[in-house]
Amino acid sequence: MKPTAPVLILLGPPGAGKGTQARMLQERHGLVQLSTGDLLRAAVAAGTEAGKRAKAVMESGDLVSDEIVIAILRDRLAEPDCAKGVILDGFPRTAVQAEALDDLLAQTGQRINAAVSLEVEDAAMVDRVSGRFTCGGCGEGYHDRFKPTDKPGTCDKCGSTDMQRRADDNAATVAQRLQAYHAQTAPLIAYYENAGALARVDAMGAIEEIAADLSAVVSKATT
Ligand SMILES: [Zn+2]
Repeated sequence: MKPTAPVLILLGPPGAGKGTQARMLQERHGLVQLSTGDLLRAAVAAGTEAGKRAKAVMESGDLVSDEIVIAILRDRLAEPDCAKGVILDGFPRTAVQAEALDDLLAQTGQRINAAVSLEVEDAAMVDRVSGRFTCGGCGEGYHDRFKPTDKPGTCDKCGSTDMQRRADDNAATVAQRLQAYHAQTAPLIAYYENAGALARVDAMGAIEEIAADLSAVVSKATT
């Protein structure tokens, strides 16, 4: 990996479209998305030095240490497909891990170019997710507020009255997930804000608009 290749971190709560945006960054900028889970599995499967250590720890039922994850990441960043830059997903999760990552990158003259926070309005997210329901007859998707059926409880398309709601799509669950996300990422946001690497992107708009904003962040971070 060249010292000039961007290293991005993508932060965003469930429902903010992180996966979609990471894929679009991959297509447009050639950035490789590295998720911690995939990295671990690949290192174990390949039987690298760090992979062997990770395997032993996991088999004993323990959590893989930051040091092992960093070692696996170091190996992965050295592979040719990372030459154009990477998007880290799932690591770091804590400020301590963020510091360890900075140390690792410094060894090759690199740094985090941008930690992008996909920003959502919690209340709007709860509305968006919690009102969803689906027709059990034909699979058509509806929403209490944004796309209601013409006749309450009856599908516009097939006339079925079998309307289904996912148990985890209720307001309380969504609010809880968002709260957990904010609690977990607050220290990271603060860390990267202090480092001058934080970029906030409004993630409430259309997918294409969000992608354009993210692209701009990437371009700015790499010049
Ligand atoms: Zn239907």
